[in-house]
Amino acid sequence: MEFYGQNIKDIIEQLNSNARRGLSENVVLSARNKYGSNTLKVTRNRNTLKMLFAQFTSPLVLILIVASIVSFFLGQERDGSILLMIVVLNALIGFYQEWNAENILASLKNLVVEKCVVIRQGNTLEIFVEDLVPGDVVKLSEGEGVPADIRLIDSKDFSTNEFILTGESLPSNKDYLFTTDKVLNISEIKNCIFMGTTVARGEATGIVYATGMQTEIGKISTSSQKIKIADAPIQIEIADVAKKLTFVTLIIAAFLFGIRLLLHDSLVLALVFSVSVAAAMVPEGLPAQISMALALAIARLTKRKAIVKRMASAQTLGSATVIASDKTGTITKNEMTITGCYFNGESFSVSGLGYEPLGSISNEQGKVLKKDSLGNLKIFFLSGFLSSTGKINPPDKYHPSWYSIGDPTEASFATLAMKAGFTLEEIEKNYVFIKAFRFDSFRKRATIIRKHKDKTIASVKGSIESVLGVSTKLIANGKIEELTAENRKQIISLAAAFSQNALRVIAIAYKDLETKEEYSIDEVEKDLTFAGFVTMFDPPNEGVKSAIEQVFKAHMKVFMITGDNEVTAKAIAKNIGLMNEGNELPTVINSTTLQTMSDDDLKNVFQKRALLFSRVSPDDKLRIVDLLMKLGEIVAVTGDGVNDTLSLKRADIGVAMGKNGSKVAQEAANMILLDDNFATIVVAVKEGRTIFRNLEKTIKTNLSSNMAELICVLFGFVGSFLGVATPILAVQILLIDLVGEMFPLIMLAYDPPEKNIMDNRPRNPKDKILTKTAMKGIAFSGIVMGIVAYVAFLYCFFMNPMGIGNYEKAITITFVSIIFGQYANLLSRRTYKNVFGRYLFSNRNLLLAFTLSIFCIVLIVYIPIFNLYFHTFPLQVMDWSLPISVGIICLLIFEIKKSITKKVNINSII
Ligand code: ADP
Ligand code: MG
Repeated sequence: MEFYGQNIKDIIEQLNSNARRGLSENVVLSARNKYGSNTLKVTRNRNTLKMLFAQFTSPLVLILIVASIVSFFLGQERDGSILLMIVVLNALIGFYQEWNAENILASLKNLVVEKCVVIRQGNTLEIFVEDLVPGDVVKLSEGEGVPADIRLIDSKDFSTNEFILTGESLPSNKDYLFTTDKVLNISEIKNCIFMGTTVARGEATGIVYATGMQTEIGKISTSSQKIKIADAPIQIEIADVAKKLTFVTLIIAAFLFGIRLLLHDSLVLALVFSVSVAAAMVPEGLPAQISMALALAIARLTKRKAIVKRMASAQTLGSATVIASDKTGTITKNEMTITGCYFNGESFSVSGLGYEPLGSISNEQGKVLKKDSLGNLKIFFLSGFLSSTGKINPPDKYHPSWYSIGDPTEASFATLAMKAGFTLEEIEKNYVFIKAFRFDSFRKRATIIRKHKDKTIASVKGSIESVLGVSTKLIANGKIEELTAENRKQIISLAAAFSQNALRVIAIAYKDLETKEEYSIDEVEKDLTFAGFVTMFDPPNEGVKSAIEQVFKAHMKVFMITGDNEVTAKAIAKNIGLMNEGNELPTVINSTTLQTMSDDDLKNVFQKRALLFSRVSPDDKLRIVDLLMKLGEIVAVTGDGVNDTLSLKRADIGVAMGKNGSKVAQEAANMILLDDNFATIVVAVKEGRTIFRNLEKTIKTNLSSNMAELICVLFGFVGSFLGVATPILAVQILLIDLVGEMFPLIMLAYDPPEKNIMDNRPRNPKDKILTKTAMKGIAFSGIVMGIVAYVAFLYCFFMNPMGIGNYEKAITITFVSIIFGQYANLLSRRTYKNVFGRYLFSNRNLLLAFTLSIFCIVLIVYIPIFNLYFHTFPLQVMDWSLPISVGIICLLIFEIKKSITKKVNINSII
C-alpha cells in the first residue's frame, strides 16, 4: 500500500517515529545504515558514446576520412594511415576535452549545502539534507526545498511547485487531511510532497517516507546536472563561424581540386592539395577548446564561491553594467543581534554578539540591570519573543557556534529573551501558538497570535512606519495612552537616530483579541498598542567596501535595494563607500516616490553610479530591473525570497544566496553565492571578464595560424606553376594544429587577468568577437606568418637544391616556422602591453604547454619513423636559425603593430 493511502498513525508506527518528538538518535543511526544518505546520483547530460561519435561527424573529419581511404586505394598506405591516425587523435582529443568539460561541470553539483529543519528527540534542529532518514519529522516553510518524499502530518495553506515532476507550472495545493483509497498519479496526491520540489506557500510538518534514490525523483532520475555545454553566445558564434568556414573551405577545395585535375595533375596530387586547404582552414579544435575553457572558468568561479548554472552566465557576467543588490544578507551578513531597545520613554542597551544568549541589559546611564529587576521591560522582551517564530540552538555537529533556525531577525528575539532570563520552552508552553501572519516585504510586519490562560494576544513586530501605521495607543509613563501625531513624530525621529548608526529598527506592538476560531489579517493588524522598538546590528560582509571601489572603477553602477528605511540605507551606504562622485551620498528613492516617478524620471536618476531604494517591495524591484534592462544595461540582481523570483528570472544575471537564500530563489537565479557576499559578485564579474578575454585570445590566435597555413598552401599552388614544390603537406598542417598550437591554446584559459581588466568599460555583450577589425587583425597576423614562413622555405629550398632530402628539409622548415610564428602570435596577443613585461611568465601552465609542444616538435623532426610518416627531415643545429628568425621577425612585427594601434583603440588591437 502506498503511503498516501495509509493513515498517518500507521505510517508513523511503521517508521518507528513520533509525530511530536521525531526520531530518537538510535533509530536515526540504524535507518541511516539501512537507507544510506539522502542524495541522488548524478546522471550525465549526454551519452558518452554519442559524444565520441559526434567527434567523427564534422565535415572536416569526413573529408579527411575520405582522403585517407582514397590514399589507401592509390597505394599510398603511409599517407592514408597517418591521415587516419590524425583524424582519430583529433577526435579523441576533442572528445576528451568535452568529456572533461562535462565532468568538471558535473563535479560542481551540490556545492550548496542543503539544510532542513527536523524534530529529533523532541528538539528542533537544523541538519544537512543528506542526513535525513525515513521517519524524520520535517518542518517546512515558504521558499524552501522539499528535502525528501514526505507524508504531511500538518499543513496550513500549503502548496508546492511540482513542475520538475509533473510539468505543471502552477503550484499544487497540499493538505494533510486528504485521504484516498485509489491508486493516484503524483499530481493527484495531495497529502504528500516530493523531493526536488519547492514550497510555494505556507507551512507544514511531515514525516519522511522515502529518501535518496527511493524517492519519486530518484526513481525517474531526472537529476541531470543543470549546466549545459553548448550554451554561451560565444560558443554559438564560434560554431557558426566554424560552419561558414567549412562551407567556404569546401568550395575552395573543390575548386582547387578541379583546377589541378584540369592541369593534368595526378588524382593524388590534386587530392593532397584540396585536403591541405581543408585542413588549414577549418578550426577543428576550437569548439572543444572553448567548451573546456568555459568549464574551467566555471570551476574557477566555484572555487571563488560563485556557482554559475549556465555557460552563458559565465560570459554575461563579464558584461554586467549594473549590480542591483539587496542590503540584508548580501551587503550585510544577515546575522542579527539586538543591541538595544526603546521602551516606555527610556532606551537600554544589550551586550553580546551573535545568537549566543550571553549578555546583559543596561540602562542609559550604563548601569547593568539585574535580571530580576527588569520589571515591565521584561514584559516588553517577552512580547518581542511572542511576536517571532525564530529559534536558536547551541552549537552542534553541523554548526560551530550558536545558530538561528529560520529568519535571523526572528531568532534574535529568542536570544534577547534568554538574555532577559526567560526559559523559552516555558514561554512556548504557557503561550500556546494559534496562528501566524508571517512577515512579507509588502506589509513589512509579522504577527503571531497566542493563547495565554484565557486571553488571546496578537504580538506584532515590523518596521517603525509599518507598525506605527496600524497602532492607535502606546505605552508611555508606565501606562497605556492614546498615540498622538506628536508621539509618532517623536518615535520616528528617535528611531532615525539609531538608524543613522546603521542599525536596523524593529518596532513591537500588541493587542488583546477575542477568542474565536478564525482571524483575518486586517482585523488583527489594526488598533494596536505600540510598545517600543529594538535596534539590531547586522555586520557588513567582508570586502564589500573594496568591492564597491572596484565596481566604480570598472565603470559599473551599484544600486542598493532595501526594504529598510531611508536613514539606515544611507548609513550603510556611507559605511561601505557607496557614494557618488565627489563623495556625495547617493539619492534615496523610497517606494512611495518611486511609484510617483515616471519611467523617464527614473531613467534620469539611473545615470548616477550609486542609488539607494528604500522601503522597496518586490514589485518595485521588478520595475527597477525592467527599466534598467530596457535602457540596455546588463543587470545583475540579487534576491532571496519567493517574491524575488520574477526579478531574478528577468535580469541578465539573477543572483541568489547559497547560505541563507531560499531554494526557490536559488532555482530562479543563474548564479548562487556560496558565501552570501556582495564582494563575490564583483569577484565573479572580474572572472567573467577574464574568461571572455582569454577566449578572445584563444579564438583569434587559433584562427590566425589557419590563415598562415592557407597562405602557404596558396603560395604552393601558385609556385607549382613556376616549378616550386608545395611548401607544406596536409599531414603537417594537421600536425601544426595538433602538437604545435593545441597545448598552448588550451592553456590560455589559465591566463591570469591583466592588471587593468577591471578598469575598462564593460563590453557590450551584443558585440561579436569576430568583428571586421578582428578579422582584419587575424588576416594580418596570418599573412605575416605565412609570408615569413614561406620565405624561410624558399631560402632553404634554393640554398642547396640538389642536396639529399632537401625538399623534406625545406618543408620541415616551413612546418617549424609556422609553429614558431604562431608562438609569437600567441605571446603577442596575450597581453595588451609589451610582450616582454612581467606578464610573460605569469602562466605556468602555458610555459609547460610550450615545453611539451617543443618536445613534440623535436620528436617529429628527429625520430626516423616520424620522418618517414610525416615527411620531415632531421634539422642540423644551424638550420634552426631559420624558424627561430621567423618567430622573432613575426614577434617584432606584431609588437610594432600593437604599439601603433594601441593608441588608436585599445579594444580592437588584435
Ligand atoms: P532588507 O532585506 O533590505 O534589510 P527587509 O525587506 O528584509 O529589508 O526588511 C524591511 C523591514 O522590515 C526591516 O527594516 C524591518 O524593520 C522589517 N522586518 C524585516 N524582517 C522582519 C521580520 N522577520 N519580522 C518583522 N519585521 C521585519
Ligand atoms: Mg530581506
